[in-house]
Amino acid sequence: MPAIIELIRGLWITLTHLFTKHVTIQYPKERRLVPERFRGPIKFLLSEADIEEKCVACSLCTAYCPSSCIKIASFEDEKHNKRLSMYEIDLSRCIFCGFCTDACLKEAIKTSEVYELACYKKEDMVYSKETLIKGPIVQKYK
Ligand code: SF4
Ligand code: SF4
Repeated sequence: MPAIIELIRGLWITLTHLFTKHVTIQYPKERRLVPERFRGPIKFLLSEADIEEKCVACSLCTAYCPSSCIKIASFEDEKHNKRLSMYEIDLSRCIFCGFCTDACLKEAIKTSEVYELACYKKEDMVYSKETLIKGPIVQKYK
C-alpha cells in the first residue's frame, strides 16, 4: 500500500479520536474512585478507644498473614485481659491479600482504599499502630 494512503488512514484515525470522550484524567487533581473490592493497606478502626476495646491481641492476624509482615506485642491488664502494646505492619512485604482482616474475629482491622504508598525509605513502609490509626496517608483518605 502506498505511503500516502497509510498517512491518510493514520490522520483519519487521529481525527475520529479528537471527538471521542477522553479517558485520561488530570491526576493528582482528579482521582478515579477505587472499586469496592479494592484492598489497600490495612487500617485500624479509627480511634484509639475503639482499638483498646476491639483488639484482643489474639495474634490471629499474624498467624494468617502469608508474608509474616505483622508484628504484635501484648501485655496483660489488671483484669487479666490481653492488650496491645505494639502493632506493626511492614507494607513493603504485604501482598494486600486481606487474610488478616478475614481472620480478625473482632473486626478491629480492615483494608483501606489507599493506593499512593510511594516513599523514599524502606523504613517508612513500616506502619506502627499510631500510623495505622491516624497516619498522614491513611488520614488523608479516611
Ligand atoms: S493483607 Fe495479607 S500480606 Fe498484608 S498484612 Fe494482611 S495478611 Fe499479611
Ligand atoms: S486478629 Fe484482630 S483482634 Fe486479633 S490481634 Fe489481630 S487485629 Fe487484634
